[in-house]
Amino acid sequence: MNDAYRHRRSRSHPSDRTSRPSARGPMVPAVRSASVHPAGRGHRRAAAIGPLRWEVYFIIGVILALALIFFAGGIIASIKARPALEGTGVAGIQQAQAAMPDSPRGASPLDALLGRGSSDGRPASFAVDPEKTDWNYGDNGRKTVYLTIDDGPSENTQAVLDILDRYGCKATFFVVGHNEEYFPLIAEAFKRGHTIGMHTYSHDYAEVYSSPEAYFADLDAISAVVQEQIGFVPCFIRFPGGSSNDVSADYCPGIMTQLADEVQQRGFQYWDWNLSVGDGSEHTAEEILGYGTEPVYGSDDPAATENIVLLCHDSATKGTTVEALPGIIEHYQQLGYSFEALTRDSWVCHHEILN
Ligand SMILES: [Zn+2]
Repeated sequence: MNDAYRHRRSRSHPSDRTSRPSARGPMVPAVRSASVHPAGRGHRRAAAIGPLRWEVYFIIGVILALALIFFAGGIIASIKARPALEGTGVAGIQQAQAAMPDSPRGASPLDALLGRGSSDGRPASFAVDPEKTDWNYGDNGRKTVYLTIDDGPSENTQAVLDILDRYGCKATFFVVGHNEEYFPLIAEAFKRGHTIGMHTYSHDYAEVYSSPEAYFADLDAISAVVQEQIGFVPCFIRFPGGSSNDVSADYCPGIMTQLADEVQQRGFQYWDWNLSVGDGSEHTAEEILGYGTEPVYGSDDPAATENIVLLCHDSATKGTTVEALPGIIEHYQQLGYSFEALTRDSWVCHHEILN
């Protein structure tokens, strides 16, 4: 390296000497010898460097100037758009979202960091906002199935997404942290217009329900996964086992009563279900179709209920659910139901809390 450098320097020496014998340094460019030219600077450079090199320098200069203007403009815009972030992790994200309630949802992590929405035009109204508590415990007045799909993403999620597209259905995915390689399907589901909610990172009852602190640590972990995929932490939660689970009593008596209240104070809302396809246990696709088309809990008439929150699963072992899904969708569409993703305005379904 040094040798090559020296070689280049020594080669430039003779021309320096000819043009400027009294130069203090060896690298004085030849152009300085033309500084006495009467025709002015522009002509002087052109004459000294030659027309071709002058053009090349001019083009490079213009490109560099444009790049500088673009870069500086971007930085100024970012600084102006950035909300004040004091918290870190999920708290920081929530703070950022509270500062930008009207920005579009679907923002990338960079967008979220810079406090701006993405360009897909969907509002960020799903974002956690502890101030917003006007949930809909009433009826929306139209026959709706809120299909809720737990425990994915997995190898079955892509097939579920394609079935939903084929029938023009929207659904809600309550996701877990089991299969990192399928996490991009969270973003894909969101892109296709479905709602993403948090189920649990570990789905280990003994761990998640060992204490309220453990529950929120698990919620933070799955929130971070979702945030990375869709750009913000949504307000939708499904408790492992539902809010009516009594398995949690084995680990922490009274925890569900406490959590049901506390998640809402933090700006989340939890959804239970009023009908299950029964795929939490081993069942054939036919049995799943049967369970999924029964009357909702507490009713005798399959068509009497305006709002059905239907529980099913898209975890890796639930190939039978994928098989049964088209039949379930056709059944409800024939009865005049539409399949919608949960929103902040959707009917909220809560179970009776048993622990
Ligand atoms: Zn689950």
